[in-house]
Amino acid sequence: MQGKIIRGVGGFYYVYVEGSGIYECRARGIFRKEKTKPLVGDVVTMHVTDPTDMEGSLDTILPRRNTLLRPAVANIDQVLLMFAAASPDPNFNLLDRFLVYMARQQVPVILCFNKTDLVSSRVVEEYTGIYRDCDLTIMTLSVQEEKGINELRQILLGKTTAAAGPSGVGKSSLTNLLCPDAGMEVGGLSRKISRGKQTTRHTQLNRIAPETYLLDTPGFSSLWLIDMDERTLRDSYPEFAAYKDRCRFTQCMHLSEPDCAVKEAVSEGKISKIRYDNYLLLQEELKEQKKY
Ligand code: GDP
Ligand code: ZN
Repeated sequence: MQGKIIRGVGGFYYVYVEGSGIYECRARGIFRKEKTKPLVGDVVTMHVTDPTDMEGSLDTILPRRNTLLRPAVANIDQVLLMFAAASPDPNFNLLDRFLVYMARQQVPVILCFNKTDLVSSRVVEEYTGIYRDCDLTIMTLSVQEEKGINELRQILLGKTTAAAGPSGVGKSSLTNLLCPDAGMEVGGLSRKISRGKQTTRHTQLNRIAPETYLLDTPGFSSLWLIDMDERTLRDSYPEFAAYKDRCRFTQCMHLSEPDCAVKEAVSEGKISKIRYDNYLLLQEELKEQKKY
């Protein structure tokens, strides 16, 4: 049987098998044969050891399309990066940090502003405008008023999506709305899954439709750009690409070089000043890190 690991806790792996439900599995065979630790998000083959109690044992891990390190998850198709339009106001520095981090992981990002019910449409347009040329899918939502939810469902369909963003922006509210009883359809399951639930929050995939999962993870709220090279940081800004060939220097960093077309585009309002100023801050930060 083939399924997907939706959760791992205390040496048990919970595998969702379409059409059958969730099996509680051990992974002895895999440790012995492959010396690999299964991750949430892994597609695995398994066999049933106890059909009544829905218990099984993992046999193999199918090849991973990708692996994120923080949090440790496999096979993420896209990231839903969520910020609130207000309460809390968006922290654009943190937002850009996420984007730079995700560009490095080569995972497509859906940028989503929630709580649009709290601000005027002018504010929403201003925020989405900042990211217009950044190679992102941009969504606006009000989880509370259930606005934009159907569009979002379409984007999530058939994919495994990691929800990221600072706390308080509405990630849990969205998860609850999309999967009110995530993975609890099968008898006995809620009992098994609830075992770890009272304690800490764990990295967990919530199934919202067939082959469609939303990753809810606690370890995804602040990021440092460790060991990133300055040029990689520069190249993480897609909107610079349209101008960089007109800089005087081919390897222009768009910092204090003369005749920089990127800086010119910023002063003409063609590149967002918020984005550019955060770029300067992140470059500063990398330089500071190098000193130690
Ligand atoms: P999380 O920390 O990102 O998981 O955020 P929560 O889902 O816990 O939401 C934080 C607070 O924002 C809660 O009080 C929610 O009721 C509220 N909230 C969530 N979505 C919306 C929304 O679309 N509009 C408004 N006004 N409040 C919201
Ligand atoms: Zn330049």
